[in-house]
Amino acid sequence: MSISKSPTPNNYVLIVFDSCRYDSFLRAGPAAIKKLGQIERRWSYATWTGPSHYNLLSGLLPHSSPRHVYASEYYKKEFLKFNERLGTDNIEFKSLIPKLYFPVFLKESLGYRTHAMVSLPVLNPKTILNSGFDSFELMEKHNDMRAMLGKMSFSDEQPSFYLLNVGETHYPYALPDEPPELWPRISGVHGVFKHLDDHVVGGELVVGEEKFFDNTRLKELRDRQIEAVRYLDRVVEELFDHLPHNTYVTITSDHGELFGEGGYFGHGPIQHKKVLEVPFVEGKIR
Ligand SMILES: [Zn+2]
Repeated sequence: MSISKSPTPNNYVLIVFDSCRYDSFLRAGPAAIKKLGQIERRWSYATWTGPSHYNLLSGLLPHSSPRHVYASEYYKKEFLKFNERLGTDNIEFKSLIPKLYFPVFLKESLGYRTHAMVSLPVLNPKTILNSGFDSFELMEKHNDMRAMLGKMSFSDEQPSFYLLNVGETHYPYALPDEPPELWPRISGVHGVFKHLDDHVVGGELVVGEEKFFDNTRLKELRDRQIEAVRYLDRVVEELFDHLPHNTYVTITSDHGELFGEGGYFGHGPIQHKKVLEVPFVEGKIR
């Protein structure tokens, strides 16, 4: 390949707060995360965890929905940003041809060590997403980003790529020290799976067995997601302390979440602005 490498390619960490709405993220006022850069409102390419992560790993990070521009022009421009992220100088969309899959490109063309740690079982290592990774781990708990930190390592010899799929912001918006018996239960919604057999069912679908949710309950759920972001901001601060200086970090979501707007709860088979609206912030560790 003709991709030139800078003398010190950046490590790259892509952090996905699963299901985190843009406005939940803003409301939390994440001070540590803001040090990366300005928090942008962007739009996910998909409304569900699996397809959204496929897009992210294809290099299609959430878009800005630009008007009066051809999609091909936007892709070209967006892909040039990977040069800044990785510290390279001639990556473009066609660099990913033919696989169009970022981990494969990083590993085979740029010599990265490639790792994924995921919280949601629909992203488990048996899925097709696990291609081009040196390691791909489904975490023991669906909601413990801090457990990922101790498993991250970096080398002076080789740059590293990490995908971290973080589950604290996913229903039931529980922090790792909250006992499961205290988690809010919504009849018909199964957000967490214990066994591989259950994965196919997908916990993301909305079933309104109850009359639908009352506003107080929906607000409580939304407040829990905001609280999860506040908590994660502290974990991210710990992460920043561990990362080498030549590391570029992107923090975003795979899709948003509905808390009653339009009669919807959750994400997945929903056509609504709030299920596509996601936060996006990135920058280099200094
Ligand atoms: Zn998701």
